[in-house]
Order: sequence, then C-alpha cells, then structure tokens
Amino acid sequence: MKHKEEVSAGGIVYKKIDSKILWLITQHSQHKGWSFPKGLIGDENKGEPMEEAALREVQEEGGVKAKIVNKEPVKISYKYRFEDYLIDKNVYYFLMEYISGDPKDHDWEVAEARFLPQDELLQTLSFKTDKEAFQTILDKFEKG
Ligand code: ATP
Repeated sequence: MKHKEEVSAGGIVYKKIDSKILWLITQHSQHKGWSFPKGLIGDENKGEPMEEAALREVQEEGGVKAKIVNKEPVKISYKYRFEDYLIDKNVYYFLMEYISGDPKDHDWEVAEARFLPQDELLQTLSFKTDKEAFQTILDKFEKG
C-alpha cells in the first residue's frame, strides 16, 4: 500500500454569551462525523501559514470570523485509507474566540455547523482524538 501525509489546521472556537460559554462544532458532509472546522494547509495557496489556514477554514466551514487567542496549537494524529493510499494525518487546532458571523453560513464541505455548551459538545464529537484535543484546549482556555 502507498503512503501519504496530510497536514490540516483548524479552530476550536468559543463564544461567550453573558456567563455561558459555547463551542463551535461541524458535521462533515461526506463522512458525517462531528468535529471541529479544519482543512488542508495551503490547498489553494502554497506556503500558506498554518494560522491563516486555520482562520480560513473556520470562516469557510464554520461560517464565522474568529481570532486566535493562544499561539500554541494542539496536535492530533490519525490514519485512514483512501483508494490505495494509507494516509497519515496530522491536524493542528488553535484555541479561538468568536468575533462575528453565523454558523448557518458554512460552506458545502459541512452538513451543519452550530455552537454547543461543553457537555453537549463532548457528547456530540465523533472522534476520541477530538475529545482529547478539546480537553487540552479547555486547560489553555481556563488558564487564560
Ligand atoms: P480536511 O477537513 O482536513 O480537508 P477531509 O475532509 O479530507 O479532511 P477527514 O475529515 O480527515 O477528511 O476524514 C478522513 C477520514 O478520517 C474519514 O474516514 C473520517 O471518518 C476520519 N477522521 C476524521 N477526523 C478524524 C479524527 N479526528 N480522528 C480519527 N479519524 C478521523
């Protein structure tokens, strides 16, 4: 089997409403998994910085504008098969704060995007890797 590597970037985005904190989650149009907005770095623009790719994907897939609040991303890794390739994938998620926009304005790559409170988010996320990334991001968020 042939091997390939992929690197994506994305955001774990929070929104404060009074004293409540909500988190952005997206459902992939094809595999239907619930995850965070993310995508390949530099898929249209070679040499794209990771932070830019992460913000772009949040805007495209999550429908919202956000800002990075912690410079250190959380990395997750997984493998999957595509045709005759085994793909080794690394994804870098940045902690972000919501600025503006509506998750309903997500693009076609996503079936649905919405903000959920922490307990519902953890019940909805499809992948263990993402749940672990969220716990790490939560530590960064709570430390400020
Ligand atoms: P990207 O959004 O980075 O462009 P993609 O849309 O091409 O990626 P992925 O979301 O990486 O594809 O999905 C590829 C495969 O990996 C699917 O089979 C999916 O179920 C699985 N997968 C997606 N996210 C995760 C994850 N966080 N942990 C484990 N497996 C995952």
